[in-house]
Amino acid sequence: MRSAWADAWSELVETARRTVADGLVVGTSGNVSVRVDGDTVLVTPSGVPYDELGPGELCAVDLAGRRVAGELVPTSELPMHLAVYRTTGAGAVVHTHAVHATAVSTLVDELPAVHYMAAALGGPVRVAPYAAYGSEELAAGALEALRGRSGCLLRNHGTLVHADTLRRAYDHTAQLEWMCRVWLAASSVPGRTPSLLPPGELDRVAERLRGYGQPGG
Ligand code: 13P
Ligand code: ZN
Repeated sequence: MRSAWADAWSELVETARRTVADGLVVGTSGNVSVRVDGDTVLVTPSGVPYDELGPGELCAVDLAGRRVAGELVPTSELPMHLAVYRTTGAGAVVHTHAVHATAVSTLVDELPAVHYMAAALGGPVRVAPYAAYGSEELAAGALEALRGRSGCLLRNHGTLVHADTLRRAYDHTAQLEWMCRVWLAASSVPGRTPSLLPPGELDRVAERLRGYGQPGG
């Protein structure tokens, strides 16, 4: 069991480092978690640079937020991560401060459906109301914005995405940031308004995406 934790922890650290390397966060911003053994969650510690995380910095909590293993203080966004695990079958959660996503969060209540990849997140991506980082209020607002979706924007703050695996949670975060960038680029052309996908198209694409890629992949 502990070796499964060690593997999950190293994948989590790798994912957190990737958010910095790919420019989705700066410094110690953002946080990553992965569910192991049903009701145990490994989370990034609060305010620790990701390149300083090794096996000794493993941080594990239960679904009530009680420390199960590790010495470091867990991420300040624990309420948000745990709210997702308590209410969904998520296996991993990624939170970032990606630039274009954060910019979009200040402009609209929902990311306009400019691209079909929104279907991978369950439909048009909503923006959760602003609340202070780390607050129960932010967690509650995010949960509401996530209804029927696996990702949302957090107003004046960033992104929140969950998935079955860390890899998919990361990939969908990058797709969300990319879609926000597309919408900002298209909507900043003077005198023009971006076209949107027709109603029902995202549902049709969601069905189609189930067969995307390699069989069984
Ligand atoms: P932590 O370092 O506590 O994870 O906080 C970063 C963050 O993004 C808060 O919203
Ligand atoms: Zn944050």
